[in-house]
Amino acid sequence: MHERAPISKEATKLLEELSIREPPPQVVTVAIAADVDIDTARDAWESATEGTRLDGVPVEWVVRNALLVCLTCTREYEGDKLSRCPVCGGDGLISEAPPIAQVVSWGPSAT
Ligand SMILES: [Zn+2]
Repeated sequence: MHERAPISKEATKLLEELSIREPPPQVVTVAIAADVDIDTARDAWESATEGTRLDGVPVEWVVRNALLVCLTCTREYEGDKLSRCPVCGGDGLISEAPPIAQVVSWGPSAT
């Protein structure tokens, strides 16, 4: 479960950044890499925030794709490590992998 540690770390980091004087955010947006299991991510986040100011704050999970380069035609495209080139169907190599987890924003709910 390699994704648990980075997610706990992000939760801890956010807790440190949150000002004690301000009310806790109403929603937190966390970006995860496409190959992260969202249930595992949710579970790791919940255990890391249990009993803290983020306990019960809803999390919006957004999935980030990696950037791949096709080994056959060198075209760049987005996807996960198993995605095939949209042009020629060839295998691609990840050239830029998104972080496993990253808190991208928090604040009052926009909706
Ligand atoms: Zn290709």
